[in-house]
Amino acid sequence: MSKIAIIGAGLSGLTAAIYLKEQGHDVCIYEKNDYAGGRLISKEGNETYFENYIRGLAGCSKNDKMYEVWEHIGAIKDTKFIRLKRFHSVKSGNEELVFWRDTQRSKKEMIARSPEDEEQITKLLDAVASFGIERINVKKPIDMTNQFELMAGGVVSGNANKKLDSYENMNIGELAAKFNDPLIRLAIISLLGTDAKAYEFLAAYGNFVAANAEIPIGGFLTIAKNIENKFKAMGGKIFLNCEIVKADIKNKRVISIESADEKTVTADAYIFAADANYVFMNLLGEKHMQRDMKKAFSGTKDFKVETVFGLSFLFEGKTESMYSNGALETDAFMLGKDMRSIINYRLYDYDETMENESATRLFCFVRQDEEDYLYWKSISIDKESLEAAAMQAAENIKFRIEEAFPDTKNKLKILKCYTPIYFEENYNSYLGAVRGFCPGKKTGNYNVSGNIKGIKNAFLAGSFLGGVTGIRGAVISGKFAALRMLKVLK
Ligand SMILES: Cc1cc2nc3c(=O)[nH]c(=O)nc-3n(C[C@H](O)[C@H](O)[C@H](O)COP(=O)(O)OP(=O)(O)OC[C@H]3O[C@@H](n4cnc5c(N)ncnc54)[C@H](O)[C@@H]3O)c2cc1C
Repeated sequence: MSKIAIIGAGLSGLTAAIYLKEQGHDVCIYEKNDYAGGRLISKEGNETYFENYIRGLAGCSKNDKMYEVWEHIGAIKDTKFIRLKRFHSVKSGNEELVFWRDTQRSKKEMIARSPEDEEQITKLLDAVASFGIERINVKKPIDMTNQFELMAGGVVSGNANKKLDSYENMNIGELAAKFNDPLIRLAIISLLGTDAKAYEFLAAYGNFVAANAEIPIGGFLTIAKNIENKFKAMGGKIFLNCEIVKADIKNKRVISIESADEKTVTADAYIFAADANYVFMNLLGEKHMQRDMKKAFSGTKDFKVETVFGLSFLFEGKTESMYSNGALETDAFMLGKDMRSIINYRLYDYDETMENESATRLFCFVRQDEEDYLYWKSISIDKESLEAAAMQAAENIKFRIEEAFPDTKNKLKILKCYTPIYFEENYNSYLGAVRGFCPGKKTGNYNVSGNIKGIKNAFLAGSFLGGVTGIRGAVISGKFAALRMLKVLK
């Protein structure tokens, strides 16, 4: 039995911990915050937490290989899912457009509003409807796979659907530009922004239509708790409020790590499942970073990070005008460095566990980029200025929501707003990123392994390894880090 220390109790750290614990190792996780779950969760008050607007649990259909992993880590144990009819909706002035689960309905409604776009609408919605289940490599890292396994096809990733081929080399902005109708364009870009690959849009909508990205009741708070509980039930330990600030390396091995309150932890092996940039810049040293990752973190325009200004409301009332998932186009207003005009939202009216009969939750966010992050960073030197600017932005958003959806007027109470600095301070996240690098056209082949250059007994997990993005990427990276470690511990 080896003693293993994991830095970070986000999705990737928890996943690695479970795969290692079940092999009989002594596994402890050290987490900076007073809760496990990382970026699945935000802290709203002293002891109140809320999910971070994760769109859905991608890979929750039994036909998807990812399902086995979610099941293995206990994520979906006894979890109920809601099957919403609307994937995404947009409102601009008095006009609305919905991307329905029923793609035939969307096709009909979109052609009716923009007959000149019929060919592109049909092509897009046929591709979404036939998207099916993605083949994601959840089995083991490709560099640990032998020829026979490769030939058997068990570790292949991708989607063999020919209808997706013509969208391969385009980003979402280019996809939207294929349509004449401004509302269709807006509906497409409001979901994931313009820079991500068009495939990401097709995959998000396609997984939803295939009932492979469902929304958990209780949100991702439930999912995170499920995984944490599984690890603890196996005898695993999580040390909360324990920020690791130092790692000692000798003879190509991590010897010990040290917490902010100067406690030293020694272990046989380590998994660094905190933000990769933070890990190398603050704990291990940049020289241990793989070349591709160094290039990606060098500030090149090809590797963008996405962050958000988030805003959580308590909504004391009922609304007929607002759907559960959507985006609103408003007049442009200043948010961060630039003018913004798209507010995304989720209304949790479908989830009775969130609040009570008379009140529910509303979470809004506005996309922010690196320039915006720099703006927030520059004013964050003075906490009061930061708070005042954030509150001003929150009021601007609230005003626009109330105008667009009049039955919410005077019923919205701001609970908390999150600037990119919140994500940086709370999770040590690079430029306040909410996930890894934006999967744009040029980042297609970015997929670094969890090996750490020049260190034998430590591996990396987390969103910045590339490959599949978001929650699935985090989980897979955690599993793969555990497999790499099990190989060296043999
Ligand atoms: C607002 C928002 C919306 C999102 N929407 C989606 C979505 O729709 N779909 C999707 O797939 N993904 C989405 N994501 C992304 C997804 O939540 C993340 O990709 C995933 O949770 C990241 O997991 P991780 O383990 O890689 O990192 P994290 O969750 O960041 O885990 C790292 C952990 O390490 C801890 N830590 C950091 N430094 C230290 C240290 N020095 N010592 C100890 N602990 C440390 C952090 O506190 C954190 O708990 C969203 C994220 C946010 C914030």
